[in-house]
Amino acid sequence: MNYIIAPPPQSSIAVLDDDARFPVRRVYCVGRNYEAHAREMGKDPAREAPFIFQKPADALVADGSVIDYPPQTGNFHHEIELVVAIGRGGSQIGVDDARSHILGYAVGIDLTRRDLQFAARDAGRPWEWGKSFDRSAPCSALATVARIGHPSKGRIWLSVNGVVRQDADISELIWSVPEVIAFISASMVLQPGDLIFTGTPAGVGPLVPGDVVAGGVDGVGTIGMSVGPSRRDLP
Ligand code: MN
Repeated sequence: MNYIIAPPPQSSIAVLDDDARFPVRRVYCVGRNYEAHAREMGKDPAREAPFIFQKPADALVADGSVIDYPPQTGNFHHEIELVVAIGRGGSQIGVDDARSHILGYAVGIDLTRRDLQFAARDAGRPWEWGKSFDRSAPCSALATVARIGHPSKGRIWLSVNGVVRQDADISELIWSVPEVIAFISASMVLQPGDLIFTGTPAGVGPLVPGDVVAGGVDGVGTIGMSVGPSRRDLP
């Protein structure tokens, strides 16, 4: 193939104990999938249909990265999430069959410019500027199903500078992983290379330059990041 400019690099995440990487096509994210987090966002946690947004695949950032405080926000939030990696595509996937489409699991942080998200929400506009900005998706290495099976319970947590802020269990997901896969695939064709960030528990909060963030899901893995200076702090 001949391109008029150099094609962008293929986005990918590492795979534990494997030299091969997982190439990423799309990053789907589930909104409000834990009751206590729905409440802290000022919403009714009633089990209404899930809703989905996306981040660009090139927003993924590896474990241990420094992420500069992003522009145009004064309320930059962490959201720790269980991440699902799709290894086999499909549409109209049934809940009972959904797990057979999963290659593995990872731990991600859905970084959010909360002020921009809420301004968009209140104006009835897309969340894009609040959610889908550069380097907004730190993600751990992938732990394959062959390695860890299909976790349905286990502590999910995040700390900032050693202080735990988010502490819950993935068994508290309002919509389970198989239900989320069924829901997305009823509307979009899932493909190998898709990631799904499954939603965050309560305790989201602001980050500032210099913060050191650690998080994990028991039985899946851990993720770390730190916050670099904001662009306006740079010389
Ligand atoms: Mn989220």
